[in-house]
Amino acid sequence: KSKDWQMMLRLRNPGGEVPGKLFLALDELSDKLGNGTLRATTRQAFQMHGIRKEKLKEVIQTIVNSMGSTLAACGDINRNVMAPAAPFDSPEYNIARALAKKVADLLTPMAGQGTFLELWADGDLEYTIKPDKDIEAIRKLQFKDNVFSGIKDEPLYGSTYLPRKFKCAVTVPGDNSVDLLTNDIGIVAFTSKDGNLEGCNFYVGGGMGRTHNNEETFARIADPLGYVEEPDVYELIQSIVAIQRDYGDRKSRKNSRMKYLLHKKGIKWFKKILSDKYFKKEIKKIRKEPDKALIDYLGWHKQNKTSHFVGLPLLSGRLSGEKKNTISSIVKKYNLDLRLTPNQDILLCNIANKNKSAIQNSLSKIGYENLDNINEIQRHALACPALPLCGLAMTEAERILPDVLKRIENLLLDLKIQKTILFRMTGCPNGCTRPYMAELALVGSGQNKYQLWLGGSKNLQRLAKPFLQRMELNDLEKTLQPLFDNWKSNLDLDFGDFINTQDENYILNLLNENQ
Ligand code: SF4
Repeated sequence: KSKDWQMMLRLRNPGGEVPGKLFLALDELSDKLGNGTLRATTRQAFQMHGIRKEKLKEVIQTIVNSMGSTLAACGDINRNVMAPAAPFDSPEYNIARALAKKVADLLTPMAGQGTFLELWADGDLEYTIKPDKDIEAIRKLQFKDNVFSGIKDEPLYGSTYLPRKFKCAVTVPGDNSVDLLTNDIGIVAFTSKDGNLEGCNFYVGGGMGRTHNNEETFARIADPLGYVEEPDVYELIQSIVAIQRDYGDRKSRKNSRMKYLLHKKGIKWFKKILSDKYFKKEIKKIRKEPDKALIDYLGWHKQNKTSHFVGLPLLSGRLSGEKKNTISSIVKKYNLDLRLTPNQDILLCNIANKNKSAIQNSLSKIGYENLDNINEIQRHALACPALPLCGLAMTEAERILPDVLKRIENLLLDLKIQKTILFRMTGCPNGCTRPYMAELALVGSGQNKYQLWLGGSKNLQRLAKPFLQRMELNDLEKTLQPLFDNWKSNLDLDFGDFINTQDENYILNLLNENQ
């Protein structure tokens, strides 16, 4: 008798877009065949937990029939492409969203689609993901070029796919809601005065995952590569993926992300191999961008002249119980679409102006009565599922996040500090909530023990550093209190900037003061 397996399933939602019809199907599936909850991930996709193996086909088939897909949401391939979730009807946001979809199409495995649909949707090819004509033409061009894999149906991935997962994000200048530098490819799209895509800045080689006690694994932020004009954007993307396909480490999975290639060979080598072999056109210097900010789009916003959208905070991205039921009935009644943010929150979109107050009334009944005054520390905090849902977890994250946040908040209150801190936590060093970018992060390192990372920046531009290896959760307050006390006399700085301007030994001494 085979084991009684249960699965986690993740969707493909480029830019976090979830049509209302798909959301309603997921809501029903999660109650009927999952664990009754949905989870918005930090890569803007929905995850469902607790699906029994024998129900997988029913679940995936329903998703496919409801305008969704799970194709390439996991595996050694390009994963969900991120983009600013806000549905602002402005040229620059429209362009970034459209580009994210095109990148997702460009990097979708085409040859595998028939098998995917055969396995999960009775071979119904009507549900094939069809790239738009431009993208199809760009993919076909690569058949002729022998630097690509040479396999007709899968010119880019070939028969071996990539050495490891691959992540892309697209954004507009100044909007760092997507944590751009943590991706294998980060793309900043510039819009021309007449409202068209002008060209893009490219950043390459970011990634978060690492392993404890293995110095050869580390979190890394992406290097600036340069700027290319619009006609060359897709060819450059394919060329970068092809370099990782051909030169990425296929012997050690722990060192197989593109960030290690960049680290070992350097950005100069990367640029040279690009121009020698893969991309013969000019790559210009990075174009100047405005200051970047982590924007979460929570609360009410004008979408365009006739409609609004509303951003709803979800702690750890978990949607369940009355909240899930109410949101589901609002989506159904008002025919809304959703978008998931990289901050594990959801946006209800296309709300006709006339329905705004009725929807706010319904939201007030499920804890969203004051969307202008969202708890600051909860607002940006992230936690991964960890125990009991993730097989890699060494300790808790999502289940204890509310308690940990309360404890940090109380400590700040006791010390009369009115500023907040960008906090993230995970159950293991894999880093699914990008903890290494936070101002303060706990990364599971044993049962109720955490590595303490400090010093990331509020706008997600700088890596934090590890200061303690196995801090007991019980010691949280006595460890942080001397640090916060010192920060108190430097409150003109954000917490992460304060840490970053101090000598590391000084910080270590403070952390050990009460031990
Ligand atoms: Fe699991 Fe680790 Fe990812 Fe958390 S960070 S979900 S524990 S793999």
